[in-house]
Amino acid sequence: MVLTLQSYAENRWVAPGAGAVEIPSAVDGRVIATASSAGVDFGAMVRHARQVGGPALRALTFHQRAEMLKRLAVHLTERKEALYELSYDTGATRRDSWIDIDGGIGTLFAYASRGRKELPSERFVLDGAFEPLSKNGSFVGAHIMTPLHGVAVHVNAFNFPCWGMLEKLAPTILAGVPVITKPATATAYLAHAMFAMIVESGILPPGAVQFVAGSTGDLLEHLNGQDVVSFTGSAITSGKLRDHPTVSRNAVRFIAERDSLNAAILGTDVTPESPEFDLFIKEVAREMTAKAGQKCTAIRRVIVPRERVEAVRDALAARLGKLAIGNPRDEKVAVGPLASQQQRRDVRENIAKLAGESEIVFGDPLHCTVVDADADAGAFLSPVLLHCAEPIRAERVNHVEAFGPVSTLLPYDGLDQAIDLAQRGEGSLVASAFSYDADVTEQLVMGLAPFHGRLYLVDRDSAKEATGHGSPLPALVHGGPGRAGGGEEMGGLRGVYHYMQRTALQGSPAKLTALTKTWGQGAPTKVEGPHPFRKNFDEIAIGDTVVTPARTISLEDIEHFANFTGDRFYAHMDEEAAKANPFFPGRVAHGYLILSFAAGLFVDPAPGPLLANYGLERLRFLKPVSPGDSIRVRLTVKSKRSARLPDYGEVRWDAEVFNQNDETVAQYDVLTMSARPAP
Ligand code: NAP
Repeated sequence: MVLTLQSYAENRWVAPGAGAVEIPSAVDGRVIATASSAGVDFGAMVRHARQVGGPALRALTFHQRAEMLKRLAVHLTERKEALYELSYDTGATRRDSWIDIDGGIGTLFAYASRGRKELPSERFVLDGAFEPLSKNGSFVGAHIMTPLHGVAVHVNAFNFPCWGMLEKLAPTILAGVPVITKPATATAYLAHAMFAMIVESGILPPGAVQFVAGSTGDLLEHLNGQDVVSFTGSAITSGKLRDHPTVSRNAVRFIAERDSLNAAILGTDVTPESPEFDLFIKEVAREMTAKAGQKCTAIRRVIVPRERVEAVRDALAARLGKLAIGNPRDEKVAVGPLASQQQRRDVRENIAKLAGESEIVFGDPLHCTVVDADADAGAFLSPVLLHCAEPIRAERVNHVEAFGPVSTLLPYDGLDQAIDLAQRGEGSLVASAFSYDADVTEQLVMGLAPFHGRLYLVDRDSAKEATGHGSPLPALVHGGPGRAGGGEEMGGLRGVYHYMQRTALQGSPAKLTALTKTWGQGAPTKVEGPHPFRKNFDEIAIGDTVVTPARTISLEDIEHFANFTGDRFYAHMDEEAAKANPFFPGRVAHGYLILSFAAGLFVDPAPGPLLANYGLERLRFLKPVSPGDSIRVRLTVKSKRSARLPDYGEVRWDAEVFNQNDETVAQYDVLTMSARPAP
């Protein structure tokens, strides 16, 4: 049965109009689906996102959006087998599909968890601390981030139809911005199936997501400065979209992830006997063949010391020679077909270009033996390893991306040359350095970092748990400068902030405290009423304050503390030695003693709604406390956030410890957990 892919616009599926494109299976060429976006009103889609999806998402807090992402991840997990089945026809083996399907769902889970843990239960983010702007503290600054009021248009490449969609969708929805997603047509049936599951779940509010099956028509013409285009694909298409008159005229935010000539470098210290040598061979072979080399992060340039070229070539050839190519449904098969016959033609053309200045040392681009499939009907291609003997004089190896199981061996003479070669890629997503030598690694990192979004540093100590050269991770940035597009995706909350506007606020501490729901120096405090430890989470108010009486610290206190804890550091115990230290006037109190006495001053001891202290942050000891000094504490409720369980809430307190001269001796945030009233 041939699937008819429909766009999802304005909360309904739109039957395709004329001119549908046929999408063949990568494995046997039979038509799997047809797609056309003719008849879709792109202007109405954009309006729907702005008028319906955006307001609905912005009405929710980060925690509520994170909760939806988690439910969505669970919903997709329960249905993923149907996606695996469909994925074979894209040419993916089960392992390849795992990266795409489970990897994509994993990104949803990861953003759900980060949203809950690292973002407030609010609709804005306070970015950093208040900035003092005036001598007397009556005028301060702060930065907030709020979701853009537009739509995020996500245009994806064909190679990871599920992961590509979800790794963009998760941070965008968490930010509170609606999405119009457009998969590459060649594998759109898989993205379509996953998207249909998202719609069917009913978890996201109306207008939060829309889907384009087929071309984007005049979509970009409707965008403005509140919108974002996030593109993954080739440099040529990226250039077209970035230079679109509406995109440039309206300064539409544009994020690009595009082709990249990623390198793997074997360190000068590695011999064929070193564990790093085997790790290098395994990684290069895996990167050449996973997803049949159709990965933006795949290793295209294998940069090795000249004296190791033969050993690397032979070891790689031996490894690649063992891999079965063929029907991805067959468990013996390690390398499936490329996504389409067109893709294979493109890759062969690019191999021919590369072969103009390199020789093929493994594989035949025109023939390969296949398992359990018809070699002519599917887009099968043998892995191809080339060797470019004089890369310093070569051009194409640094510019031509054969987006298939293709890499080129480049010999280098000295680490500077290895770095120079890697830099000639003009900006890549990722490079690997295989070395067990700290100096070699440092030299490589300093030379490669400005040209790469990620560096994968592998050795015998980390190999067992290392996540792989080619795996972008939600916690780390994915993107690269220059040729790689100059964009950045994921990277934890960094990926969320691409869809938000950062705004500087200036005003009085009271005004900014009220707006940001975060107490800042100079804002009013409330010291009357019951001790705030006696209040439950809902009763506690920002600015509630305890001001304690003073306590004098004696030499006996210091010695008692030293003997009791075992911390007999000379600055507390030896007057002469302490005096010789540039920071101390003589023996001083332990920082931890100051903290302990401070707690002794501000706690309210009886059982009550305050349940636990779970940490301190930003702790600084600013002035030494000598025997005979007195300390007192101001403890103010700085901010509140609801905890994972509804019975509790987290309270952050601003603690400041003063001496008898009103000088601050210590400052820190105290984190506590308080009970909420029973509903
Ligand atoms: P592509 O041909 O540039 O297509 C990418 C996307 O752009 C597809 O969805 C395509 O839709 C769409 N598109 C093409 N022309 C368009 C236009 N005029 N207006 C709006 N959209 C348009 O790239 P691809 O062949 O799918 O992917 C392979 C390339 O992507 C490789 O070069 C690879 O390195 C790169 N890639 C990069 C990353 C990364 O994260 N950096 C990840 C994966 C792939 P149609 O399919 O409908 O034409």
